[in-house]
Amino acid sequence: MTAYQELMAFQRETEALGQIAGRLGWDQETMMPAGATPQRAEEHGAMANILHARRIDPRVGDWLAKAEATDDVSQANLREIRRDFERTSKVPAKLAAELAKTTSLAHRVWAQARADEDVASFLPILQKVVDLRKEEAAAVAGDADPYDALLDDYEPGATGASLAATFDALRPRLVTLRVAILEKPAPASLSGVFEEMGQLEISKKLALAFGYSLENGRIDKAVHPFSSGSGLDVRITTRTNATDPFNCFYSTVHEVGHATYEQGIDQQYLLTPLGRGASMGVHESQSRIYENQLGRSRAFTGWLYGQMRDTFGDFGIKDEDAFYATVNRVHDGFIRTEADEVQYNLHVLLRFDLERALMADDLAVNDLEAAWNDRFQADFGYAVDKPSNGVLQDVHWSEGLFGYFPTYTLGNVYAGCLHDALRAAVPELDTQLSKGDTSKATGWLRENLQQYGGLRTPVETIKHATGQEPSEGPLLDYLEAKFGAIYGL
Ligand code: ZN
Repeated sequence: MTAYQELMAFQRETEALGQIAGRLGWDQETMMPAGATPQRAEEHGAMANILHARRIDPRVGDWLAKAEATDDVSQANLREIRRDFERTSKVPAKLAAELAKTTSLAHRVWAQARADEDVASFLPILQKVVDLRKEEAAAVAGDADPYDALLDDYEPGATGASLAATFDALRPRLVTLRVAILEKPAPASLSGVFEEMGQLEISKKLALAFGYSLENGRIDKAVHPFSSGSGLDVRITTRTNATDPFNCFYSTVHEVGHATYEQGIDQQYLLTPLGRGASMGVHESQSRIYENQLGRSRAFTGWLYGQMRDTFGDFGIKDEDAFYATVNRVHDGFIRTEADEVQYNLHVLLRFDLERALMADDLAVNDLEAAWNDRFQADFGYAVDKPSNGVLQDVHWSEGLFGYFPTYTLGNVYAGCLHDALRAAVPELDTQLSKGDTSKATGWLRENLQQYGGLRTPVETIKHATGQEPSEGPLLDYLEAKFGAIYGL
């Protein structure tokens, strides 16, 4: 065997073990008996140790030194394995263990602080998480920008400065659009109760409509919707809320976007570093284009309206146009995960700027809440009323996930670019969507993006699909046109 073949055989087992670790997590959120929690924590820990040891195994370094790429696939495999090996090897074992222990504790402290509306009780452990992540970033990047080193984990190649340029261009137009919309009368919101069986039936129809394969997947209920797994076993979860069926439907479509991306990757990449999505941002571009540009389009919501009428009878929305406005209703709110398409990115940009300032020592952990509240007031025009609606609302920082938030908005920016290219390639798209048929759209995405998995870097993945350098312009134009029409701006 050549060094490359030996490396890939070893890597394949690592990938398989990684899938098993992921499935333990899926089980924990869906099936696991509550009493199993302490044992499951040990099971997770054991898998994490095995995976970490394999990722820094000295043989990987030897094989990487000897292995030669013979084509673009082997070149990409070596790029990904080398990136992970070098990064993981640079972090001292003691620091990695300290990070794991501290973030696990911080997560519990955060949950309690949020329940108690007590920011002060969370700050000392958050300070420790911030310090440890800075130490980790310094170990990985040396003197380079620590935030970039963290970001690189989620979005290879992206930098804080490049994202800031894109996001700073987004923000003023989003703020302006938001203000213009909220001066207009709001469309009707849903009222009444929508029985769970009906929600789950439509949810399954939606998943199938967007090309999700139940032969290689399954849908279960969980507290937080998520997608889990790669290749031949990609599962999703959804949730129901008796008065808000859109939560169920659009959570499902969002996760189906993630899951069909994984299911759509060329099977020659199965259990290799290329057999997963290219990055968090590219992943989010798939979930967002399914959920928003396609799922919340006038054409597709027309079909969904019919499905809801068939299942629930008359639910008080008079026709397809009114339903489209209801689905896309823009409303005030504090919570990122409940935000509409117009305001969602403002929530993310706030977090991005604050966490970047934290990592650059431009903002002290003790001043974080005040900075959050000031920025919220500036962008949304009203004051945060309590910490659980403000700085304590998200789990990410307690888990040390600095650099993760911007991938949400980057995904929206990519989705805007992909949507432009898709519309140009499939002019008759709306005719299909109005019948609940997404096959042309999902087929285009599969052919031009999904099948390649991690073959190309994130930006190259988007450029290959769209033929253009990604930029924020298409997303902004789309939002202004769509909401301008709905609200008569
Ligand atoms: Zn997502």
